[in-house]
Amino acid sequence: MFAVQYATRTALRSNHFHYSDDCGGEPHPTAYFVWLALSQTETVLIDAGLAPDTAGAMPGLDYIGSPLEIIGDLGIAPGDIDLCVLTHLHYDHTGVVAGLPRARYVVQQRELDYWNGAWATRIGQEEWLHSRPDIDHVTASNRLDLVDGDSELLPGLSVHSVGGHTAGMQVVRVRTARGNVVLASDASHFYENIESDSPFAILHHLPDMFGAFDRIKELADGPGHIVPGHDPLVAERFPAVDRHPHVVSIG
Ligand SMILES: [Zn+2]
Ligand SMILES: [Zn+2]
Repeated sequence: MFAVQYATRTALRSNHFHYSDDCGGEPHPTAYFVWLALSQTETVLIDAGLAPDTAGAMPGLDYIGSPLEIIGDLGIAPGDIDLCVLTHLHYDHTGVVAGLPRARYVVQQRELDYWNGAWATRIGQEEWLHSRPDIDHVTASNRLDLVDGDSELLPGLSVHSVGGHTAGMQVVRVRTARGNVVLASDASHFYENIESDSPFAILHHLPDMFGAFDRIKELADGPGHIVPGHDPLVAERFPAVDRHPHVVSIG
């Protein structure tokens, strides 16, 4: 299992935590990832990052390259991807969905319903976080697998609905050689969110975000088996993959 970093952005600590502290003015960098889970027979992409045109319009973003290009350097072509699990439908997790010619998309039903329903355009604090073309692409696809709750997609790879950050946020558990790794994605942007019980600033439902922290801990084999969604420390805590400076092995 691999974390593939495709961008970095510097923001302030006060942008990233629901509860403020005295250090809100300090710089607080964010990393952007997609993840790969590989078996002998299956190639699974978890989340779809930011497409180049969207990334180019984001102030302060240091864009390394399209997630598909970086994955291509690992020898994986878009047509090799069998499954694309979307942890949630924020714009920085759906960017290259239209570039996958044969992958099946896995989304929680309640996540898709939220973004296609009556609330998404009225709740301004969340509305800006979605990409309508990406969601339309997924919604119209005949390769869409909607799930409701927990589901084992492949032997040793399951999704678990947690909510909190978005209406239908899901985390992904993967059985690896070192045990069960849980990709928290934006259910815990940073290690600090889950380790200090400190919710991220962007949230849909606060009690569910705390519930997500508990569920992630239950599902993972230990604290070292939890992978947050946007923490630059992921690139330091896990070993780099030879000759691929933006890819680390997480399981
Ligand atoms: Zn998000
Ligand atoms: Zn995100």
